Amino acid sequence: MKRLQVELGERSYPIWIGPGALGRLPGLLEEAGIDTGRKLFIVTDEHVASLYLEKTTTILRDAGYAVSHFVVVAGEKAKSLAVYEQIITAALKAGLDRKSAFLALGGGVVGDLAGFVAATYMRGVAFVQIPTTLLAHDSSVGGKVAVNHPLGKNIIGAFHQPKLVAYDTELLKTLPPREVAAGFAEVIKHGMIWDETFVTWLEENAEGLQRFDHTLLQEALLRACSVKVAVVSQDEREQGLRAILNLGHTFGHAFEALCGYEKLNHGEAVAIGMVAAAMLSEKMGIAHDVSKRTRRVLMKYRLPVSLMLPLKADDVIAAMRRDKKGEGGKLVFVLPTAIGKVEIKKDVAEEQVREVLRALQE
Ligand code: NAD
Ligand code: MG
Repeated sequence: MKRLQVELGERSYPIWIGPGALGRLPGLLEEAGIDTGRKLFIVTDEHVASLYLEKTTTILRDAGYAVSHFVVVAGEKAKSLAVYEQIITAALKAGLDRKSAFLALGGGVVGDLAGFVAATYMRGVAFVQIPTTLLAHDSSVGGKVAVNHPLGKNIIGAFHQPKLVAYDTELLKTLPPREVAAGFAEVIKHGMIWDETFVTWLEENAEGLQRFDHTLLQEALLRACSVKVAVVSQDEREQGLRAILNLGHTFGHAFEALCGYEKLNHGEAVAIGMVAAAMLSEKMGIAHDVSKRTRRVLMKYRLPVSLMLPLKADDVIAAMRRDKKGEGGKLVFVLPTAIGKVEIKKDVAEEQVREVLRALQE
């Protein structure tokens, strides 16, 4: 197991990554100051509950913790105010107080939801992330927690750092193949924004990683989380630098919104978005020859690199202007200047975006 430290003053916390992290949870909790005198409340979804809830509960109870739980439906619809209220009710009934801790056992949905509960329950209590998806290497680090509003994703949220992230690579084995690919899209993104040698390593080890070789997985997650940690430590509340984490997301969010999640999930949309960003960079003369390699690495992870569904450029641009990451309707993009380096470009000319969208559907 490897340890990575997030340095945020008194909000600092460790990320433990590797096989067997779940079994070592009691010791890790204790070390994080959450001792057996505190009540624990696990939030998980129906898929993860059927696989890992009993095991997790047993590990914690055997170590002397009082544990209760709440199981939500799987998928994005669980990130709602209605489900949020149900969890608060269950936690109150279970007698959770200010000293208690919420544990998120699941992917990004459960992490964001349980994190928002923890951020607000009695004005904020301790929170622990036990990520079970590859994508959650992204969502479990950085402290952004939220639920959705019917009019927009992640609209109701907070910054609330966990006390600990325990990332057990053994739990990833049961992930459906599409979720695996989607998770790798964000791993690749972390290389693309920060570290060319990591991108090369991901290309070289694509096969082993997709076979779930634990040593490789541990290394990939450690390196991807390290990038996120480096960025978040410099810009906890997204004043500037943190925006580079949105590489592929201006295009990606629009594709996702227009295609529907069933046809294109978040990671897949971000993959196509990174190709689009690379093409836009080349068109604007910011970079040369970045799109070919971007496509190559994504394809090694069975990710899409072009739009299979016909989308109208007008609709895509309207969706981009509505994106909450945009500034007053301007088109803001994170664009590669080379593999492993990006720049934020504000107010990009619409015509160039249209040209990229045309080329992406050819
Ligand atoms: P998810 O939590 O819905 O998990 C994907 C699917 O995999 C679900 O059906 C889940 O039940 C299942 N699953 C989870 N772990 C499993 C396992 N080990 N074995 C088998 N099945 C398993 O989705 P996700 O992709 O992990 O996360 C997406 C969410 O993360 C979005 O809501 C997004 O907004 C959020 N997110 C947040 C941040 C942040 O900084 N807070 C960053 C990125 C994404
Ligand atoms: Mg993302």
